[in-house]
Amino acid sequence: MRNPIVSIRHFSPMTPVAACDVAVIGAGAAGLAAARHLRREGHSVVVFERESQIGGIWVYTNTTEPDPMGLDPTRPVVHSSLYASLRTNLPREVMGFREYPFAPKKTGQRDPRRFPGHKEVMEYLKDYASEFGISELIRFETEVSRVWRRESGKWEVRSRKRSGDEEDVNEAFDAVVVCNGHYTEPRIAHIPGVDRWPGKQIHSHSYRIPEPFRNKIVVLIGISASAVDISREIASVANEVHIASWSNSNEESVTLPGYDNVWLRPMIESANEDGTISFQHGFKISADIILHCTGYKYHFPFLDTQGIVTVDDNRVGPLYKHVFPPSLAPWLSFVGLPWKIAPFPQFELQCEWISGILSGRISLPSQKEMTEDVEAFYDSLQSAGMPKRYTHNMTGYQFEYNDWIATQCGAPKTEEWRKKIYHATSLNRKARPENYREEWEDEDLVLQAYQDFAKQIS
Ligand code: FAD
Repeated sequence: MRNPIVSIRHFSPMTPVAACDVAVIGAGAAGLAAARHLRREGHSVVVFERESQIGGIWVYTNTTEPDPMGLDPTRPVVHSSLYASLRTNLPREVMGFREYPFAPKKTGQRDPRRFPGHKEVMEYLKDYASEFGISELIRFETEVSRVWRRESGKWEVRSRKRSGDEEDVNEAFDAVVVCNGHYTEPRIAHIPGVDRWPGKQIHSHSYRIPEPFRNKIVVLIGISASAVDISREIASVANEVHIASWSNSNEESVTLPGYDNVWLRPMIESANEDGTISFQHGFKISADIILHCTGYKYHFPFLDTQGIVTVDDNRVGPLYKHVFPPSLAPWLSFVGLPWKIAPFPQFELQCEWISGILSGRISLPSQKEMTEDVEAFYDSLQSAGMPKRYTHNMTGYQFEYNDWIATQCGAPKTEEWRKKIYHATSLNRKARPENYREEWEDEDLVLQAYQDFAKQIS
């Protein structure tokens, strides 16, 4: 396959209607896209990043938190949740920003695979930041500790350098864009009796390598993409792996196809003082470790909106189209809350929308109309029997949502090949959980993607 990336033809700068001072919190993929689009629109941007480099979740580290369950609110936080062997679960053509394709590079020691390892994503984000000169907008090692709105309507951002004895600094901005990520604060499964169970517990946020699980009997909870990868990896060293999930309703003992030491179990009923774990339907085993691959919680410890924006059972709300709290729009916004999506292209669109609204180029409906829209959305979830914690789950409608935002922005809608590859990959991942990263049948669509990318070469 050709490598089309030589240099990218940039979208032209916008003519600003009104320029604002905007604070962006976080320099992960979402914060980078925010900085890029806000500046392109003519706004002044300061990005606050508590780490010493860009990349957010893609900055791999061997370090883990002292509390492997991430429950202690005073613990030193390790932002990343990546494990050493992690490869992307989306193909690079779909995953990359629309404006800056994630095609393999020939220069340097790069990973050309269609589902590359995490280092390659990090390199790609560095390329993106450098292409658009974003680093100069970022204040590294600067943690935001409080954000609140003054009576004047301006937003006050309190930050502090992480190193040294520097004082807190308060600065005023017209608008704040929150891009702090949502894969750092563990969600834990409730297990009756676990407090008296003598084994160890860990959340996947602190999983890096399989070695600590050698010769152990492990109960792993969850069926997400990470749970699938981690269960297989651990099976190579552990004595037994028991995958517990609500979707396994087997009353019989069923092993995972291709493995003789991995069992699919129903959900855990209790953990017992004698070291055993009881599953539904009466099965019981002795286990050493429970590994919670149970996802993450939205967490905005710095944000003080006087109760206007809350997190309730993992619903961040009320938010118009997952971005704007109606009564604070457009001066407070959130990028990157939805899940079960291809994140980067959606970040780009959300950021373009926010930037255009702030400058007055694009308009929002009235506060009343936005509130009604949010209420109608919540009602529809409730009628469908969807728990609140699924509010930002976009299974089945991410492209419709993206295209709606694209229309607001006057931007092109999602490419047909991107939708089709995303869909084909989802099916392939289900059919071949072991090797969907090596075998696929959508080569013709991949060619279309690269033909499209080639048009962006200047
Ligand atoms: P993050 O990358 O988390 O960045 C948030 C940034 O905010 C961080 O740099 C953090 O330091 C900073 N920050 C937080 N709080 C503060 C504060 N108070 N002050 C200053 N800075 C702060 N996506 C894909 O597209 N493909 C994949 O294959 C894929 N695999 C994944 C695998 C795992 C295990 C996980 C956890 C996620 C995966 N994702 C994948 C999703 C991934 O999280 C998103 O693609 C995306 O990188 C998230 O970007 P973000 O900017 O929203 O958040």
